[in-house]
Amino acid sequence: MATLFISDLHLDAARPHILDAFDRFILDEAVHADALYILGDLFEAWIGDDSADPAGQRFLAGLQPLREAGRPCFFLHGNRDFLLGAGYARRAGLTLLADPAVVQIGGERTLLMHGDTLCTDDHAYQAFRTQSRAPAWQRAFLARPRDEREAFARQARAESRRYTTDASHSALMDVNDDAVRAALRAHGCLRLIHGHTHRPASHRFELDGRPAQRIVLGDWYEQESWLSL
Ligand code: MN
Repeated sequence: MATLFISDLHLDAARPHILDAFDRFILDEAVHADALYILGDLFEAWIGDDSADPAGQRFLAGLQPLREAGRPCFFLHGNRDFLLGAGYARRAGLTLLADPAVVQIGGERTLLMHGDTLCTDDHAYQAFRTQSRAPAWQRAFLARPRDEREAFARQARAESRRYTTDASHSALMDVNDDAVRAALRAHGCLRLIHGHTHRPASHRFELDGRPAQRIVLGDWYEQESWLSL
């Protein structure tokens, strides 16, 4: 049977067609697979497990057939939903993975990442990432009232939209080739699967004289997108 990989659904109550597509994907595809891996940016934003975001509720319901079928579902954080915590994961039946994670898929060591850590040319983003992944920063943020956290998320999204639509940032927002090679070497893998860049492709290249592959998952803005191995 197959193992399925998805990322960058950016689930949001404002995009009901993606919520519907996800429900169909679970019923038509995922329940028949060995396992489902979600490689980050499942949600457009996540301000804490106490969020009132209806997309979070819809996802719990949408995943119900997978829980009933006893199929494992793994999740690693993206840059939008890095605050998704153990409490929500337990309710959803998600097994949280570290980023990066090494898994055996069809007997091959495979490196799984969201992909944002590979975009090392984007210094402004990497600085924010370092800050916001610190446990002290997260504790302080999660202790703030919900409306303050929602306002912060709205502002971050507006800034992200401005930044990503600026063409001069296009190269910065793709992965750095040296970072890809370093990650594969560090984990003894020749295959990498990641999302984040919304540039779906399968790149084949040589790593230290051996054939390597980098598979980039697509986003779900216009259509559903998944990888089956
Ligand atoms: Mn991302």
